[in-house]
Amino acid sequence: MELTQIESGEHEQVLRVQDADSGLIGIIAIHSTRLGPAAGGLRMRAYPDEAAALEDALRLSRGMTFKNAAAGLPLGGGKAVIIGDPARDKSPALLSVFGRAVEALGGRYWTAEDMGMTPQDMARIGTETRFVAGLADGAFASGDPSPVTARGIFNAIRTTARHRFGAPELAGMRVAVQGLGHVGLHLCELLHGAGAALTVADIHDAAVQEAQARFGARAVAPDQILTVEAEILAPCAIGAILNAASIPDLRVQAVAGGANNQLATAEDGARLHARGILYAPDFIANGGGIINVATEILRIADRPAWVAEKLEELDATMDRTLTRARQRDVSPNDVAEEIASERLRPDVA
Ligand code: NAD
Repeated sequence: MELTQIESGEHEQVLRVQDADSGLIGIIAIHSTRLGPAAGGLRMRAYPDEAAALEDALRLSRGMTFKNAAAGLPLGGGKAVIIGDPARDKSPALLSVFGRAVEALGGRYWTAEDMGMTPQDMARIGTETRFVAGLADGAFASGDPSPVTARGIFNAIRTTARHRFGAPELAGMRVAVQGLGHVGLHLCELLHGAGAALTVADIHDAAVQEAQARFGARAVAPDQILTVEAEILAPCAIGAILNAASIPDLRVQAVAGGANNQLATAEDGARLHARGILYAPDFIANGGGIINVATEILRIADRPAWVAEKLEELDATMDRTLTRARQRDVSPNDVAEEIASERLRPDVA
């Protein structure tokens, strides 16, 4: 295995990992350890080339710094990527070598699951390193984070409703949910329990049928969900769905959901703001996921109490973000980045 430093601008350390025997080529990007060890998942994808993989690792690791800071966690931001098709190129040997690379960093970077990875893969990586989370078994294993993620998004939706409509109650509120995967279905359950009227879409019919049967949801085609008339849109599928093409056609008054990187560009935050659509910044709204993973990294003994406290803090951060955005008449996304940056300032204890 060869570990090579790559020159990087604002990142603390970026490494290229290569191993001829297993075919591993990957990047480990540590954006910041200002608040603690860098934490962020491992993504395996058939990137078109190494430059694309590097760009993804740099962008995602920076995002983790902000997400972890916004969630009030003593963790920095990092991310790793492996180039290859997970269905074809993933092997136990490749994962083991990646584990050795993580171990060589001595705890500066903690890895976990992201796209293309499973808890079993994490267990394999864990045969070579202590610095792995997202395990299915073990003393501090945190398991599937999506119920905690959904709880955090539900809180964010209530807080957004309070700011936009004057009260957090969701009874009778129309919520459009895009994506009924791990997060989306848990979220629908909570919204339904609170009396919201759901309109849903997914590219998988089985998930749609489940939402119809369990929550009385109205279903629309995937290409219709962004133009549904509702009070709130909750994106829980893919990124970049809020963009110059989609924003003019939205028929909601607020957007609060769990998908990562919902805004295609920073200007899209301003576009939503100009339309009077209140946007709950995604990296605060979906912080429950990393809070759950953090229990494993930080070896938290009383997980439920700790998670509950962190989710409350996260909600308070969302409230502060939306309050400041209203006072200054700016996009909440700008404020969210500002609040996370404040926590990262060297003079803040
Ligand atoms: P998932 O893969 O379980 O679910 C995604 C769902 O979206 C799938 O059912 C898929 O069929 C559907 N989908 C894909 N494209 C769609 C489209 N164009 N229209 C409608 N539906 C579509 O993923 P997940 O774990 O539920 O995560 C959802 C989002 O939340 C992702 O953006 C993820 O990065 C983010 N997120 C998840 C967690 C977590 O705890 N799982 C934490 C933080 C952020």
